[in-house]
This record gives sequence, C-alpha cells and structure tokens, in this order.
Amino acid sequence: VEQMDIIKNSIRSIPGWPIKGVTFRDITTLMQDPDINRKTTDIFFDRYKNMAIDKVVGIDARGFVFGAILAHQLHVGFVPVRKKGKLPYKTISESYSLEYGKDTLEIHEDAIKKGERVIIMDDLIATGGTIGATVKLVEKIGGHIVECAFVVELPDLKGRSRLNGHSIFSIVAFD
Ligand code: 5GP
Repeated sequence: VEQMDIIKNSIRSIPGWPIKGVTFRDITTLMQDPDINRKTTDIFFDRYKNMAIDKVVGIDARGFVFGAILAHQLHVGFVPVRKKGKLPYKTISESYSLEYGKDTLEIHEDAIKKGERVIIMDDLIATGGTIGATVKLVEKIGGHIVECAFVVELPDLKGRSRLNGHSIFSIVAFD
C-alpha cells in the first residue's frame, strides 16, 4: 500500500491542461524513474502471469508503453490499437464520442485469433470512451477479454459504468 503511494506521488499533475478546468495526470514522471516504472510494471506482471494470457492489446499511445512491457514479461504477442489511418493492413474501426466531436480507433483484423485471452492496457481511464471502443474492436475479431488494466483511474468520471460486465483493474485513483 505504501508502494501505491510511491507510484501515485510520482505522477505529476498539470492544472489547466489541455484546457481550463481539467487537471492532466502526467505519467511521464512515473515512466522516467526506473525503480517506479519497474514497480508499476511488476504489479501488472504479478497479476497476470498465471492467467493464461495469449495477447496484450495496447492503446495508442501511452498504452503502448505499459502494454509492450507486459507482453514482453508474459512472453505473449503485443497488438496495437491505433488512431485512424495509421495501420497498414486490413483494419476494422470503431468510433466513439469525445466532449466535442468524434474519434476513431482501429485494429488489424487478423491481430487476435478467435478465443484468445486478452489483456487491454492503457495508461488512464477517464470517461471510458477510449476503452469502450477498444473493447468492441477486440470482441469483433473474437478476442476473450480477461481484464482491462490501467495505471490511473479517475473514478469521478465513471468510466467503469461504460464497461458493463468487463473486469477493470487500476493501480491508483485521483479524484
Ligand atoms: P477516456 O476515453 O476514458 O475519457 O480518456 C482516456 C484516454 O485519454 C486515455 O487514452 C488516456 O491516455 C487519455 N487521457 C485523458 N485524460 C488523461 C490524463 O489526465 N492523463 C493521461 N495521462 N491521459 C489522459
């Protein structure tokens, strides 16, 4: 539990960024500390090492960092979910609403085999729009989602309520 405080205290908070009224939780300060970065990634590894995971899906872009480390530690494949237009092969897409407008995420249609056991990884869950779209992409191509994992959760934004039925794990929470 003291470990959680060390991780939480390593995250820098930037009031008024990217817009007035929002406090951005900057995890680059966590990542740039080698001991804290390893503490964080070891929590995920210890949680998933005996869960017969087949693939780790990382969300563009900070989800790639933690997702790729977990995939490496588990010795399973890594699958990127990317913003529209970045993946070169056949993709499927899923749009989701932002505060203003829409965004689209994509995955390669052959990235996961039917029934494979998947962990989805991102740095942070806020409203749950991003993870909600990613869950749909993984399920459309037949993946079995074991859990969605985050370093940070913002519980006030109720992202969990968009993920009905899916297991959510986060290491630290900010009000
Ligand atoms: P959501 O779709 O849940 O509203 O927002 C989560 C997505 O936006 C994640 O991909 C995350 O990287 C990014 N995001 C939103 N707010 C923050 C923040 O305060 N800090 C960080 N590091 N990412 C954020």
